[in-house]
Amino acid sequence: MTEKKEKCTQCPRMCKADRSIHPGRCGATNDIEVSHYMLHRWEEPPISGYDEKRGSGAVFFTHCPLGCVYCQNQKISRPLSEGQVYTEGELSDLFVKLQCDGAYNINLVSPTQYTDKLITSVKLAKEKGLSIPVVWNTGGYERPETIESLKDTVDIFLTDFKYSSPQLAEELSLAPDYPEYAKKSLAAMYGVTGKPVFTKDETGHDYLTKGVIVRHLLLPSHRDDSVSVLRNIADTVAPDSILLSLMAQFTPEFLPDDGSHKRIRRKITTYEYSIVLREAVKLGFRGFSQERSSATRRFTPDF
Ligand code: SF4
Repeated sequence: MTEKKEKCTQCPRMCKADRSIHPGRCGATNDIEVSHYMLHRWEEPPISGYDEKRGSGAVFFTHCPLGCVYCQNQKISRPLSEGQVYTEGELSDLFVKLQCDGAYNINLVSPTQYTDKLITSVKLAKEKGLSIPVVWNTGGYERPETIESLKDTVDIFLTDFKYSSPQLAEELSLAPDYPEYAKKSLAAMYGVTGKPVFTKDETGHDYLTKGVIVRHLLLPSHRDDSVSVLRNIADTVAPDSILLSLMAQFTPEFLPDDGSHKRIRRKITTYEYSIVLREAVKLGFRGFSQERSSATRRFTPDF
């Protein structure tokens, strides 16, 4: 949503930038910057599907407002180095092209800073024949009002819940209010989609057409915060009403080269992962876990 006089309040930073004049705190202007698009084979199975010739129609946007210090996606979530600027009309054509290429869905990655423009782009794409689900793939740092504005646009939320501790959120994302917004926006997401709905593809496998998948990337030395994240999610939505994706492939290689953030300068251990997975099972979540090897990004069977 953009207030009168173009003051942007789309994300919880609410910096009120007039992006027609200068970039907001996230760096975004009124130009929609797309860093990359692809048929993505490595999202969770009901998002990427099982047909090797298909995949999730991922469109990656620059200027993620969260800007985590360890961002595993930073080459494509930060300022535009490769890629291009799209108008809403051009973006709607890209969505239709991805559908023609076999995409199971349109997967908008780091979309928050372009919310108003993406609502228009999806509407235009639907007028041009877009009929596959639309996925909002977000870091979870969202205003509930922004999420509610997506009720006629988005079918699936693929959202992170990164931290429970405001101090950790401050240290790693300069966002001490992250846990508060992640909880409120998760409740809003579930209000928009309801429980997961699956449809069978031509190979007989289920893929998701509605619902919420919550991702949690485990961080080294912070298993207690991960356990607390799972409890926070379970306090917000019934564990059997969403899908949980536990991600184990954290790598420190994207941290700044200055020796800071010492506690997370390693990969997670099997012990850390097993503690968090045990809590997920105890709380009654259904979902996916990801192989600890960062070389393969495949998901292992459901838990
Ligand atoms: S999306 Fe960017 S410009 Fe808008 S409020 Fe957030 S940081 Fe500011």
